[in-house]
Amino acid sequence: MSTDIYLYNTKTRTKELFMPIRKGEVRMYHCGPTVYNFAHIGNLRAYVFADILRRTFEWNGYAVHQVINITDVGHLVSDGDDGEDKMQKGARCEGKTAWDIAKVYETAFKEDLASLHIRTQGTHFPRATEYIQEQIALVQVLEQKGYTYKTSDGVYFDTSKFPQYADFAKLDVKGMQEGARVEVNDEKKNPTDFALWKFSPKNEKRDMEWQSPWGIGFPGWHIECSAMSEKLLGTPFDIHTGGIDHIPVHHTNEIAQSECASGHEYVHYWMHVHFLNVKDGKMAKSGENFIRLQTLLDRNISPLAYRYWLLTSHYRSTTDFSFEAIEAAQTALHRLYGAYLSFGDTLGEINTGVIQKCKVSLNDDINTAQVIAYVWEYIKSDDSDENKKATIDELDKVLGLQFASQKKEVVPEEILALAEARLLARKNKDWAESDRLRADIEAKGFSVKDINDGYEIAKK
Ligand code: AMP
Ligand code: ZN
Repeated sequence: MSTDIYLYNTKTRTKELFMPIRKGEVRMYHCGPTVYNFAHIGNLRAYVFADILRRTFEWNGYAVHQVINITDVGHLVSDGDDGEDKMQKGARCEGKTAWDIAKVYETAFKEDLASLHIRTQGTHFPRATEYIQEQIALVQVLEQKGYTYKTSDGVYFDTSKFPQYADFAKLDVKGMQEGARVEVNDEKKNPTDFALWKFSPKNEKRDMEWQSPWGIGFPGWHIECSAMSEKLLGTPFDIHTGGIDHIPVHHTNEIAQSECASGHEYVHYWMHVHFLNVKDGKMAKSGENFIRLQTLLDRNISPLAYRYWLLTSHYRSTTDFSFEAIEAAQTALHRLYGAYLSFGDTLGEINTGVIQKCKVSLNDDINTAQVIAYVWEYIKSDDSDENKKATIDELDKVLGLQFASQKKEVVPEEILALAEARLLARKNKDWAESDRLRADIEAKGFSVKDINDGYEIAKK
């Protein structure tokens, strides 16, 4: 019962039939977080999408090889080649080292993935700082092939030597040249040139710096993704994802570096998640617009309600955040859970017609909103309760909404929040905290049992 998979490819701006490089396997790279702060829920939209993509392939019988990198060096505050390293700045603000904050926010990021029930079994999480030699080697290849030049602050990629440079993002390079008369860095030959290796500032000791053939410094932001994807997946690989902000700079530069170094295509399918916006514009990691999963939990909104809310819109549409919208999604999700629980405990036959319809929608550029609509339609249909239970269980393999972990009793939000916190503590192997939370839950009249990677709560 397999169907073809179609994906919208940013490279061609069309929906294309997915053809794997190796039969039955898919290799995917997802640009990961810069770990100078917590992830906001906009960032997390990118990883819920990556998870649904992975689950869709797994549902279709593919073996998935997946990488989410951890950017712990080199991403400058301007997103270009000027300004301070975000890590270094974050560390200074907190009075810690860049190494310290990288650890803290990487752990927090992985906790967020766990709370959203994002599958990470087998996923590689390479840190940029652990692949410095690979990045240096890649810059050396580009240097030998004549694509680089040196300025007083680093080694740069000469984008005029890659004639296809503007194609991916449909950049107006000529317009950019005219508009760039007052360049911050007047040693750059072209405004689109970018740093491959930056020199540590003179008279300043950075927390993170390494020896290189060009002097002490640190890698540019883009080179890490080219080096780590080559090392862990090989090129070309099948799918590369990220937010749409990455199209004109980060991914354009990754393509330039990788294709000039290897002489062949870097990635077959590029997929980009549109932005989660707040009323004043895009969600950012600073200011009032900075909403984390914890911010939702503080308002008794569960991470799964956020996941459900994301699934109700297409990844290629911009979504507008409001607490009211996510609260309404939580109410809808609880209604679905309620319906599921009313089906009882007996498993009937999986409704293959419904599964096939949902598969066709998912395989049509990951149309989760259509699948959610089918779920609502189906639970109201006249199929038997037993079949409905079996069918929803099957669908949940791809939705990841944890239907089977729900229990009949109406569990108060407060208890659910404690159980979620305890699940996190257990994932962190923080047994003392887990025991403390269990005692708290029990003192409030409920018991909690661990099952697979979830829990069951019952009234005592
Ligand atoms: P960063 O931690 O800033 O490097 O970003 C991590 C991922 O989140 C990248 O794929 C970004 O493109 C994506 N991203 C950043 N802001 C948003 C947003 N408001 N909505 C959706 N995705 C975002
Ligand atoms: Zn990247």
